[in-house]
Amino acid sequence: MSDTEPPESAASSLRTPIVAVLGHVDHGKTSLLDKVRGSAVIEGEAGAITQHIGATAVPLDVISGIAGDLVDPDDFDLPGLLFIDTPGHHSFTTLRSRGGALADIAILVVDVNDGFQPQTEEAIEILAQSQTPFIVAANKVDTVPGWNAEENAPIQKSLERQSDRVRGDVDEKLYEIIGQLSDKGFSADMYWRVQDFQNNVGVVPVSAMTGEGVPDLLTVMMGLSQRYMKEEMAIDVSGPGVGTVLEVKEEKGFGSTIDVVLYDGVVEEDDTIVVGSSGDPIVTDVRALLKPRPLAEIRTESRFEKVDRLKAASGIKIAAPDLDRAMSGAPVRVVRDREIDEVVEEVQAELADIAVDAEEQGLVVKADTLGSLEAMANALGEAEIPIVRAEVGDVAPRDVSVASTAEDSLHEAILAFNVDVLSDARKQAESDDVRIFQSDVIYRLIEEYEEFVEEREQAQQEAVLENITRPSRFQILPDHTFRQNDPAVVGVEILAGTLQNNTNVVDFEGKEPERIGQLKGIQKDGDDVDEARKGDRVSIAIDGPTVGRQIEEGDELWTELHEKHAKILEQELVDDIPPDERDALQMYLDKHRRRDPFWGK
Ligand code: GDP
Repeated sequence: MSDTEPPESAASSLRTPIVAVLGHVDHGKTSLLDKVRGSAVIEGEAGAITQHIGATAVPLDVISGIAGDLVDPDDFDLPGLLFIDTPGHHSFTTLRSRGGALADIAILVVDVNDGFQPQTEEAIEILAQSQTPFIVAANKVDTVPGWNAEENAPIQKSLERQSDRVRGDVDEKLYEIIGQLSDKGFSADMYWRVQDFQNNVGVVPVSAMTGEGVPDLLTVMMGLSQRYMKEEMAIDVSGPGVGTVLEVKEEKGFGSTIDVVLYDGVVEEDDTIVVGSSGDPIVTDVRALLKPRPLAEIRTESRFEKVDRLKAASGIKIAAPDLDRAMSGAPVRVVRDREIDEVVEEVQAELADIAVDAEEQGLVVKADTLGSLEAMANALGEAEIPIVRAEVGDVAPRDVSVASTAEDSLHEAILAFNVDVLSDARKQAESDDVRIFQSDVIYRLIEEYEEFVEEREQAQQEAVLENITRPSRFQILPDHTFRQNDPAVVGVEILAGTLQNNTNVVDFEGKEPERIGQLKGIQKDGDDVDEARKGDRVSIAIDGPTVGRQIEEGDELWTELHEKHAKILEQELVDDIPPDERDALQMYLDKHRRRDPFWGK
């Protein structure tokens, strides 16, 4: 048996379940993975845990060694657990398979002190969407003040060692997490009280620092897979391999290579494979199957050594011609004894499955992998933000062109998840006024875009307001006629609203509102101004009337509002204008509506 292969057990046709670790940044995902690997080495079984490309296999005997009394190896016939080395929902969404998520089970890491955080929520949504069973590792229990640690102990044993006060504090924190899970629609409890892990989420208190609870975590994962996933783990040991591209890399001495997680069947050195790409699927012949060289030998030559055959579940690097076009998250299928066309069709069908449905109008979305593109599309769908184009790859000038031709200026934006913006695309975006949002956290992209929408909407309203005549009511002051006519110049006080220059003036003295002239200048304290506000006393020049005939000192006059403007003011901008102006508007509308109840409606 080559040590790249999961250990053969009585049921060698059962594959190793694939485990992903998710959670908020700094909650301890990496530490927990390191601890699991570390504990396995400490167990003295270092030879038995194997490093794959992008994954670590922990075989059943190592798990039972760590778990001690918690596990009886005879209860299990799955060969162990394969942990994906890169934690976080990014790799989780990248690593997808036919059915959805590639990972069979997940560990959601939650810091007991921090509880649920944005990325915890995001991870939960992704897990729910992909229907991946998961357990919660309530991490960092050792940080509860007064904690009395016992390295690598099962958690119940550890809890018994604590004072009543510490146990009470731990319980309180755990119940908070259980409550937060239930707010998200998951019935959850301490793992030792959960009977049915299919319908309940088990919470395992752990410390990635002291290793406490790690035996429980491994036991629960193993039990969960054995109980509920055995059927899915049954594979055709000699069947053609099926996997997912984790990464596309140039590798010295090998050219372009793909890191693949194989989840079904076998891949061999002389196989022909079909790999998904942004264009037509790539059909190519394997040149080398590579696994990491053990650490001790690494200085000798290449970091990799060749193997001739590998079976699922495992992580492998494949070197072959034309792989530079391969795409992260895309399917890989071994052809062996079948028609190439048939396999190409299968790969195409899988890619089509993942394609995002675009709409006529919406945003441009770019992401680094198919899986992350899909996760973005789901999150945007939930936020009811439409997508016009969704593609894997860096932001290019043509993406900017698409965004810049959006009918709605709120769609003149590109959301770039974990990809670069090409420099000519950046320049074009600046000149076309297209906004590019870049992040490796989905919720942040959406939040930033929503802020942008709010900003733009506000700017639009302000622009509208600028082009609309504002209501005002003003009165000619006694003894303030400076010129009789041509134009008439009088002193006025603004009673309400904003008086703007170059607007028409009306009065409501007669039955019909009557336009009496046009404002040709406003002076305040001897200076020319464009407008005057409520309470101001200014002198104004009105072209048209003669004082003593059409107008008199003491008259109340109004700025004339176009019916359309009055309507926009009342229906859309009423919250954006000051209260006195609102009053003036209302009075103005009332005066018109006494004559015509539908004026301005
Ligand atoms: P990640 O971002 O989720 O991968 O988090 P890390 O594994 O990098 O951990 C973030 C920080 O928390 C590091 O400083 C760790 O040493 C610390 N940390 C992680 N787990 C524990 C734990 O169980 N107890 C304590 N005391 N610290 C922890």
